Amino acid sequence: MFIKELVPIFGSKTKAQEIVLLLHDAKKVVRQGFYDEELPTVEKFCTENKICLVKSKFKVLLADEYAYSNKGFRVPETDTRRGMYFVYFSKEEQNAWLASYYELMNNDANLGQLLGYPRCCVEFFGKRFTEDTTNLQRPPTNVFTNITQRHRDAVILSHFPCKSDCQESITLARKYLDVLIKVDNRRVEELLELLKVH
Ligand SMILES: [Zn+2]
Repeated sequence: MFIKELVPIFGSKTKAQEIVLLLHDAKKVVRQGFYDEELPTVEKFCTENKICLVKSKFKVLLADEYAYSNKGFRVPETDTRRGMYFVYFSKEEQNAWLASYYELMNNDANLGQLLGYPRCCVEFFGKRFTEDTTNLQRPPTNVFTNITQRHRDAVILSHFPCKSDCQESITLARKYLDVLIKVDNRRVEELLELLKVH
């Protein structure tokens, strides 16, 4: 299963990558944003691949497309404005429900932990992320924690590293690359090229 084969279903290589990591048990829970019309194909894939999916009861307007932030403007499902649903994926049904519950309760610390983010980065996010400061991106120093190319669909991590040389984030990114290289080694080459720090 190549990353690009999953792009028509999930919408981007970054999202497809995370699903591959989930299928290979490198991630326990994955959270992504989707518009209503994208959901049927996503749901079909999940049924076929035994992934549990829980959809948020609210929609988020102007949310970061890459779900780096969960502080978008929430509106009820009945609101007619175009918003994204948050979708929580896991092989374990209770983990998908737990993630949706933590998000609903604005429990960023437990949500971050469940999503597998390093403790130092979860704490950093809790202290620094505000309504006015929604981009905690740091100048990149290495390919692993480089999140500056996510608009070009190239990123390994799905959280804000507390610093560019956060060792736990680097270890996590290496673990993800180890899995991805076995699945789609050309995607990894592409990632390393795009994330190269000059
Ligand atoms: Zn960290």
